[in-house]
This record gives sequence, C-alpha cells and structure tokens, in this order.
Amino acid sequence: MMVECILLISSILFCSVSVYRARINTRQAIWQRMLDIANCAAGSVNGDILKTLKEEDVGTDKYKDLYDRLAVFRDNVELEYVYSIKKIGDKDYIFTMDLDQVDPASYGESVKFTEALDKAGSGAAAVDEVPYKDAWGEFYSAYSPVFDSSGNVAGIIAVDFSADWFDAQLSEQTRSNLISHGTILILSLLVGAVLSLLIVRPFVLYQGKLLEEKVLAESANHAKSEFLANMSHEIRTPINAMLGMNEMIINEDKRAQENIDGDVTIARDSLDNINSYAANVKKAGDNLLAIVSDILDFSKIEDGNLEITEAPYKLSSLLRGLNDMIRFKAQDKGLDFDINVERSIPENLYGDVVRIRQVLGNILGNAVKYTEKGSVKMSVTGDPQDDGRYMLTVVVRDTGIGIRSEDLPKLFTGFERLEMEKNSTLEGTGLGLVITKRLLDAMDGTISVESEYQKGSAFTVSIPQKILSVTPIGDFKASDESTIKRNEGLYESQTVEPAPVANKPLRAPSARILVVDDTKTNLVVLVHLLKKTMIRMDTASSGAESVAKAADTKYDLIFMDQRMPEMEGSEALHKIRATQGGASSDSPIVCLTADAVIGAREHYLAEGFSDYMAKPVDYESLEKMILKFLPAEKIESA
Ligand code: ADP
Repeated sequence: MMVECILLISSILFCSVSVYRARINTRQAIWQRMLDIANCAAGSVNGDILKTLKEEDVGTDKYKDLYDRLAVFRDNVELEYVYSIKKIGDKDYIFTMDLDQVDPASYGESVKFTEALDKAGSGAAAVDEVPYKDAWGEFYSAYSPVFDSSGNVAGIIAVDFSADWFDAQLSEQTRSNLISHGTILILSLLVGAVLSLLIVRPFVLYQGKLLEEKVLAESANHAKSEFLANMSHEIRTPINAMLGMNEMIINEDKRAQENIDGDVTIARDSLDNINSYAANVKKAGDNLLAIVSDILDFSKIEDGNLEITEAPYKLSSLLRGLNDMIRFKAQDKGLDFDINVERSIPENLYGDVVRIRQVLGNILGNAVKYTEKGSVKMSVTGDPQDDGRYMLTVVVRDTGIGIRSEDLPKLFTGFERLEMEKNSTLEGTGLGLVITKRLLDAMDGTISVESEYQKGSAFTVSIPQKILSVTPIGDFKASDESTIKRNEGLYESQTVEPAPVANKPLRAPSARILVVDDTKTNLVVLVHLLKKTMIRMDTASSGAESVAKAADTKYDLIFMDQRMPEMEGSEALHKIRATQGGASSDSPIVCLTADAVIGAREHYLAEGFSDYMAKPVDYESLEKMILKFLPAEKIESA
C-alpha cells in the first residue's frame, strides 16, 4: 500500500509541475504569436514613407497606401486594434495612424507609455506582459519597430489583443494540457498499478516475508538453544543418577563379597542396598527414556511428519488399556482413580486409536503426576454430529496442584514447564501438552483446560470419530473385569488391548527363538532377560546370518533389529519370507528397534513385520509379546 501511495503522490506532483510549466510556455507562445503578427504588420509598411508621415498627409494617397496595408491585418487577424506610433521625445509617443473604424485616435494623440513600447522605440520588438486598461478596454499590445532605408527606427507598428482573447487562448491551451497530462497521469498510474501488482508488490511482500522468516528463524533458534540447554540439564540429571547409583552398586557389591563368609548381616544389608539402588537406576532410566521419546516425537511433529492412520477399534479396549496404564501409578501415590463411561457411546469406532491413546495417556499421566492427594477421574461422553461423525469427549479431572490463570496460555507452548521451583523433582520436558495439542489438531480435535490454583484441574478433550456400528459400549465397569479376550481379529491390528499377562512365570523349554542384532550387548541383554523362561535362544549378529539361520531352523518367533550394516532388518524380513521352503519363512517376526518416534510402529507393521517393540525392552513387555506369538502348547506356566 505504501508503495502505491508513493507512486500516486509522485505522479500527481509530477503532473502538477508539468501543467504549471506548460502554462508558462503557453503564455510565451501567445506572446510570440502576437510579436509575429506585429512583425508581419511592420514588415508590410515602407519605413521611409512612415517616417515622413505628417498630420496634413491624412487622406492623401501616401496615407491611404499605408492605411490599406495595415487594414489587411485589422480585417483578417484576430487582433483588436492596429496603429502606427512615432517617438517624439523621451518616453513620449504619439499616434500617427489608427485603423479603428469606430473611434480612431487622431494624429498626434499621445500613446500610453509602456516598457515594451519603449523597447520597440529603441529597435527591438516587444510585448506587454501585463495587460493595460484604458478607455477602449483591457489589452495586451505587441510593438514592432519599422526601419527606414538607412536602418533607423522610422516608427512603430502596434497590435492590440483584448485581454479576453488572451485569457481564452491561455485557458484553451491549459485545458488541452490538462487533458493530455491527465491522460498521461491516468495511464502512468495504470501502468504503475500493474507494475506494482506484478512486480513491486510481490517483491515488497517477498522482502517482508524474508524479514519475517528471519525474525522467526532467529526466535526459533533462540528457543532451540534454550531448549538444548534445558534438555542438557534434563538428560544429565538421570544419567548422573544412573552413574552414581551404579558406582554405589559396585561399592556395595564389594562390601557384600568381603562379608559373605564373615558378617552375614552386613552382606545382607549390602544386598538390600544394591536392590534399592538398582530400582533407582531403573527409575532414572525410565525418566531418561520418556525425555528422549518426547524430544523425538516433538521433532518429528515439527518436521511435519505427523500422519493420522485411521482404522476400526473398540472403545472399551482403548479405555481398558488406559485404565491398566494409570491405575497402578495412581494407587502408588494413594490417589483414587475412576473411569466413568456413558453407556450409550458406540463401542465400535473408526479413528487413529494410537494417537488418541497417546493424547489421553499424556493427560491422565499429568493428572497423576501433578496430584499429591485426592483423586483423578476420567469421564467419557459423546454426541452424534450433524456430519455423521461422533464427538467423543473426555474430561480428566484432578485434585492436584492446579495451574495459575496467568500460566494457562503457556500450557501448549513448547518447552514451557510451570512452577519449576515446585515441580523440579517431577520429571518432564514441557513437551507433552504441545505434542498432545498437535496430535489433536491433526485429528480435528480440541483441548481446553479449567483450573483452580492449588485446588485442581480439568482437561477436556474432544475428538470427532466415525461410527462403525451403533452397538453401545454398555456398562464399562462391568465389562472391565470380564472381557479381556485375545486375538479379536479385526481389531487386533491396533494392539490396543494389552496381551494377558500370565499369573505365573513363563516357561517354554520346547520353544525356540532367534534374536537378531548387530550390537552384542543387546543380544546378551535379551538372552539373559529370557534365561528364566528356559526358551532355547539363538542369536544372529547380521541380517544375512539371520536369513541363513531362518532357512535352516524352525523358529517359533524371531526378534529382528532394524538398523544393521549391509542388510537392514526390513530387507532380512523380506528375504526370510521369500525363501522357498525355508524352515522359518512363515514364523512371526517382530521388529525390535530403537526407532521409536511417532509413526514408527505403523511404518514397520506396513513393512510386513508381525509386531513392533521399541528398545529398550523390559521383561514384562517381552513376555507379553512372546505369549502373543508362541504356540499355546509350548507354553508351560511354572
Ligand atoms: P511436562 O513434561 O512438564 O509434564 P507437559 O507439556 O505435559 O510437560 O505439561 C506442561 C506443564 O503444565 C507442566 O510442567 C505442569 O507445570 C503443567 N501441567 C500439566 N498438567 C497439569 C495438571 N494436571 N495439573 C497441574 N499442572 C499441570
């Protein structure tokens, strides 16, 4: 807009100056025309005759000859009066002949003195630049000297033009100048506007955008640097705890060894300490893992790699999974935990259940994390929408620390943790709610918060879902205890429903499992974790080795690492499947990978893996996975 204004103002200024200059030029052109006429008239007169003209010559042939010559100008040119003048003294001029037919001045009558007249008396044609008024009206006069044969001024021929004629000429020229300049102005404005629209505006916008991007990049850079500094602290804290605890375990182990054959109480005390330090190592490890997962998820979302994968799912399975995940955490802190589900909500829905679980898990997790006493309650309700979808609304209410109203706007801003002085002992990155909000945005959902500081908070999440069948979920609490079933076909692919955990330790001595990983420690960890199951464990440290072993041996299950040199896990999977008559061509192959960012599970399932597990693995999930795939007859629960 600014550019257009500058263009408009400068065009108008330019045109005004041009019109003003044109008016001055027009004046000069009119004067020049008057002079030309005066010169022509003077040129038609014989100077020697004019010089000798006296009062008594009036009416003679000599007089008439002069008169007729000048009358041509009087009768044919737009001038008002034409007459001849003679200088008789300094600044003293008289009429010698006046061609006015109505009221001619008589010979010897004095002529009004002007500078221009005097100039002509000195031999140079001149014109009055200001009009003069007399008894005959208002005029501009042009004067031209007439020379005799010896080159002296013999007299002056004057032509008078009325001021009205002069003004009419001037206005006509000015009008046509205005029209032509106006046309030029409009045309140049049009050209300017087109240029501005096509070139200047995009250029200016581009410059503005560059500037805006620069500012954004700088502030993003600043936020990232701040984030890195924070993360460095967040990551170092659990690592510090782990290394410290490990050091203490080593010391206690030494103490136990030294006293094993002596003071048994000391040895036992050391073993107890080792146990408690190891539990702390696990806690710090879990914390570290949560931080790393959040960071990876966040950076994946920031890169725009967030895909929503919709599929059929059972609402009760989703809620049961959440219940299992949160109930124990709440119980550990002595909190009441309760899920209330409206009976009429359809059980079979269609949506991205993995993301929904992540969203609700995050909010429930926060509710437990930021509540010291009281309860965490989740209520699930729903509403059919006009567009045929179903609006699932989940409210998570806690009686925790609450959030100050001035802090509410910061909740969904990346890397913001509130009340750091109070919460510094609680692990977290400040990314959970940002991730939650982005996930909801991608699913067309919303989140809102109501909170009273030091009283509690209520997070409300609404997500539109498609309905697969109107069968209602019914009494969720009753179904909760009774309906955990495995292998529900259609809905199993989403693996929302946790596999049943055996009550007794798993034993499967007749089963055979292959673990593939290029990192030796990972193989050692897995083999040792599963030692007590008595399953026969084989290992392969490359994709090629796993393909060869799978061709020869029938495995009940294969755990396949993904990132390996030479042959990646996915390639090995395809090769095993493609081996004609291979002993394990049809065996279940589970992807066991450190690639654990959002979307990784979907990616590997689409590759053809039977299931997916993220590293680091814990025994419980490993056992669940084995139970899911091992033939039932090979499982002996000890
Ligand atoms: P964090 O990893 O720190 O939990 P979140 O993004 O999940 O990150 O939450 C951001 C901040 O919002 C938390 O640090 C906490 O201060 C506040 N917050 C989130 N949920 C609650 C809650 N239920 N009650 C009180 N404060 C909360």
